[in-house]
Amino acid sequence: MSDALIPSGPSNSSANDWAARSRAHVWHPCTQMQDHEREIPLLPIAAAEGVWLVGHDGRRYLDAVSSWWTNIFGHRHPRIVARLKAQLDTLDHVIFAGFTHEPAVKLAEQLCTLAPAGLSRCFFADNGSAAVEVALKMSAHYWRNLGQANKSKFIALSNGYHGETLGALAVGGTGMYRDAYAPLLMQPIYVPSPDCFERAPGASWEDHTRQMFRHMEAALARHAHETAAVILEPLVQCAGGMRMYHPVYLSLLREACTRHGVHLIADEIAVGFGRTGRMFACEWAEIRSPEIKPRGGAQRPREAAIETPKRACVSPDFMCLSKGITGGTLPLAAVLTTDNIYQAFYDDYASGKAFLHSHSYTANPLACAAALATLEIFAEQNWHAQNRGLGHLMWMGASDLLSHPHVAEVRQQGMILAIELAKNPNKREPYPAAERRGLRVYRHALNAYADWGVVLRPLGNVIYFMPPYTITPEQIGQMCRVAIEGINQATRD
Ligand SMILES: *Cc1c(COP(=O)(O)O)cnc(C)c1O
Repeated sequence: MSDALIPSGPSNSSANDWAARSRAHVWHPCTQMQDHEREIPLLPIAAAEGVWLVGHDGRRYLDAVSSWWTNIFGHRHPRIVARLKAQLDTLDHVIFAGFTHEPAVKLAEQLCTLAPAGLSRCFFADNGSAAVEVALKMSAHYWRNLGQANKSKFIALSNGYHGETLGALAVGGTGMYRDAYAPLLMQPIYVPSPDCFERAPGASWEDHTRQMFRHMEAALARHAHETAAVILEPLVQCAGGMRMYHPVYLSLLREACTRHGVHLIADEIAVGFGRTGRMFACEWAEIRSPEIKPRGGAQRPREAAIETPKRACVSPDFMCLSKGITGGTLPLAAVLTTDNIYQAFYDDYASGKAFLHSHSYTANPLACAAALATLEIFAEQNWHAQNRGLGHLMWMGASDLLSHPHVAEVRQQGMILAIELAKNPNKREPYPAAERRGLRVYRHALNAYADWGVVLRPLGNVIYFMPPYTITPEQIGQMCRVAIEGINQATRD
């Protein structure tokens, strides 16, 4: 890493200044601000390059959580930086109602080409929660346009997470984020999560997942007449502690949603763009019902480069994308949907069927240019094959923890590896939340070495790796070592 990154000279205020000034006037997200007085340092970052964040004092932090899961190719990737600078010299922003532009058109075309079959329309928004709001509204509005306004409820999984605006929060199933706002939120129909951490001893992931699907089938049988859509995170409930399930759930769900006349919303905001080992997590799920196979018949999904023709995987009715879409540079989101849904809104103006949702920064050209650069990087090489190798190294580096006296599970899906700490792993007895064991690991990891550390921001008792795909084997080794030391420290007493 170059020294040029570390700012110097008169403008180089000390790290303590920025932390103090931030505490004085900034309200940080997802934070009990008092923690920053005592428990957790507020870390001012001056610069970033590749997998590293750099403090004003020159300390480096390995960004093992990809800056909240957004940064898939490392910070300031040269191609994204170049594309963004060029875009800034051409077109900064333009109202997207009544106007269009090259970056948005190209991006919509490319996303529709990459997405599972049938997703041929792209609606832009500017963050993940907004994308979820769009999908929920579009789904209910679709049924209304068809004369079935009673289909306005949503089925959601326990322990799911879909963002924090009121609609997105409402369909989330993690009490921690939701409880304080419960009176403000619409009530979804909850179905127990297929989360395989909860499987019975000896049960396979697939068996457990199939068993749990019975709850979904029952909910659909009972509520389909009043339900617009089922929403879920394919394969990994990320904010809910990186809890994972078998892709057969998606296959069964696709078939059941079609049979019951209910939309399927796949929230790929965290798991999309290669994170699970395929471009989209839905690609792990094979089509089950013969009726919805694309022409040419079903093929087995297979690992493939970006330009591979569409695989016979499950296609949701809505796919929400954000986070990694711009390589972690600018906020952007997209909701992909089908021509069938689009057509239900397409009519004479007087019909009043139009989808009137809008955000000021819809399809911001800079964000679209960053997303196009991100897709170019994907197209340059077979990242999925490379990530298989990196994922294997993460497993080799962390799987010793399987025999640790306070580790209940080490689980992995592609470039997500999660370590579940527990007071008594055999009984799956968690540490009390108040003990904040994960936070101890976090603090240890930040301070691991004299001049560098690792960002292992925990989810309660879960420590996880979700690094940029540009991480090196050596850095994976360092990350794993720091995590293991931190876990040893944090579970000592
Ligand atoms: C992060 C996330 C969201 C919300 O995205 P924001 O851009 O933070 O609003 C929604 N769904 C999932 C699965 C997420 O991980």
